[in-house]
Formats: sequence, structure tokens, C-alpha cells
Amino acid sequence: MLIAFAVVGLAFLAIRDVANPMFAAAPRSLPSNNDDALQAFAAMEPVDTHVHAFKSDPAFTDLMARLRLHVLDICVADTQGIYGELAAQLARAKRFAQASPGHARLCVTFNPFTFQRKDFARNTVKQLQQEFADGAVAVKIWKNIGMELKARDGKYVMPDDPAFEPIYREIAAENKTLVAHVAEPSSCWEPPNPESPDYDYYKENPEWYMYLHPDHPRKEVILAARDRLLAENPKLRVVGAHLGSMETDVDEIAKRFDRYPNFAVDTAARMEYLMLAPREKVRNFLIKYQDRVVYGTDLEFLAKEATPDAFKDWQDTYARDWKFLATDQTLQLRGREIQGLNLPEPVLRRIYHDNAVHWIPGVAEAAK
Ligand SMILES: [Zn+2]
Repeated sequence: MLIAFAVVGLAFLAIRDVANPMFAAAPRSLPSNNDDALQAFAAMEPVDTHVHAFKSDPAFTDLMARLRLHVLDICVADTQGIYGELAAQLARAKRFAQASPGHARLCVTFNPFTFQRKDFARNTVKQLQQEFADGAVAVKIWKNIGMELKARDGKYVMPDDPAFEPIYREIAAENKTLVAHVAEPSSCWEPPNPESPDYDYYKENPEWYMYLHPDHPRKEVILAARDRLLAENPKLRVVGAHLGSMETDVDEIAKRFDRYPNFAVDTAARMEYLMLAPREKVRNFLIKYQDRVVYGTDLEFLAKEATPDAFKDWQDTYARDWKFLATDQTLQLRGREIQGLNLPEPVLRRIYHDNAVHWIPGVAEAAK
């Protein structure tokens, strides 16, 4: 009888894990269902510093409350309108944040394409002052600066362009944070490789696949401009989104941390790179720089999306990341077995909560 129960139990766990082919737990690491992971995750009062949520649904607010979750809801200004036209996007993000008091704060943005207008800086600063007064805690710049935006002379505009300086100064003066998605993963400049975590993205978004556009700036050029921005604005806190686009080598991130005390990175959409890198190296990096890495996912909750689908996606991601960072369980990723980092508890607290509060003040508080 007991054996029968055990077999049924194992089968149940196996079905749960098979339901998410990206993450199937190895039988040896049982018991390891998502509920345990999510419970431990919730105990951190976690902050996800990188989400794109543009749909309001009380059921989702309940989920955030259950997970004791805080999120930074990030707006993006892009010409393709992945999240819709900027004003509408901002309005949706505001509704999401208002519906989730104490659980969501806004990272706003500005339209960089008007940067050559005489009144660009003045108008943008005015707009940001209003957003800060309304409760925004951060401002995002996106990869279009460095990869798409051009000046009248045809030259690509870099993130350290003097046109943006008054904006950076304003963000620093108001004690807010710049979230900088600058450049892309290195695979963006490399031949197609089905093994790459970004293979599908570039297949679906060839306009952003720089391997096809050799006339666009190289990654090194864009990151050098980002580094100058850090050096020239020592009072500006900058969170480099997506591991600061240095996803293939934590030594490159460490170099920047040593050079620029005003710089941190988020893990959004790049956790797989940390999983695929040498375990001890990543573990030592996260311990040594435990106050410089903030947890982020890039999870989305879009108007067109069914809430239960988003539920599953968010919970699976949080559970997977927790198992990787906090346990020594074995995860399956791209045909490889990955052993969790089993980070010490104080390090987990910093990555999941304390660093977010330090680098993005206000992110875990209700707006006034
Ligand atoms: Zn994002």
C-alpha cells in the first residue's frame, strides 16, 4: 500500500515537471516540487526588479501577495511598439501599479528619438519630474540607444551622448535609478547557433540580429560608451539590465564592479547564462559581489495574455531560479545537467531583496 502511494506520488511529480520541458527535475533530487521552492522564495520578501506588466487583474494581485512579491514594472520606448505606444503603455503600467499597492512600482522611460530637438532635455526632465512626483522610482534606457538611434550625420548615437546628460543628472539629483539595457548578448553578433539561449529571439527579430547588420556598431563600442556614462556620472546609480550585457563571462562584470561603484546588474532573462557557466566561478562571483546583483526576470503580463498562463510562467520561473540559486538540486537545461549553486542564506537575501531596496530606493514600498 505504501509503495503504491509512493509510486503514484512519484508519477505525479514526474508529470508536474514534464509539463515544463525547460525545467524537468532529475529523479534523484526529489522531493522538489514548485510549492516548496515558491514558499522559500516568498520568505525572502522577494523583489523582481525587471518585469513588463501591462494588465490589471485582481487575481494577479493576489498572486503577488501570496508570494510576498514586489516588482519593478518597466516601460520601454521602442519604434516597433512591442508593448504598444508609449503613452498607452505607461497608462497600463500605472493601472497595474495602482491595483497592486505595495507590490509594484514603476520604471518609466522617455522617447529618445526626439533627442535632436532644441527642447528635448528640458521637456524630458519636466516629464520625468512629474513621473517621479507620481511615484516612479527608476528610468529605463533601451538598446535602441547604441543600436538604432542615429544623428543627422548618420552616426549611431551612444548612451553617453551629451544630449542625455541633463536627464542622467536629473535622475541622480532626484535619487532615482537608471536601468540601462545597453547592447545585447554576444550571440547577437555571432552566426546562428541553435544552442544559444537567444537563438529563437534573433530568428523572430532579425532587425535586432546584428550578425545580419555588420554596418551597425560593434558590441565593444556600445559597452565602452556605457562605461563612460558610468565614469562621467558617479552619483548616478545604474542597474545594467541583463547582466549588463556581459552575460558570457562574470569576470567582465567583476571588472566593471571594481571600476564603477555606482554600477549593479540585474539577472533578467540571463539566468540561463549563469546556469551554463562554470558553477564554482559563478558561485564565487555571486558571493564576492553579493551586494551588486539584483534579481530580475523579464517576465511579462500583457493585456492579450490569459492570466492563468502568466501565473504558470511566473511561478515556474521563480521556482526554477530558486532551485538554481538556493539549492543543490539538479536541473535539466538544454540537454545538460545543472547543479544548483546552494548560495548561503545571507547572499540570497541580498540578491532577492536587500540589493533591490538599496539600488532602487522605494521599489518595495507603497507609493505615497
Ligand atoms: Zn525587459
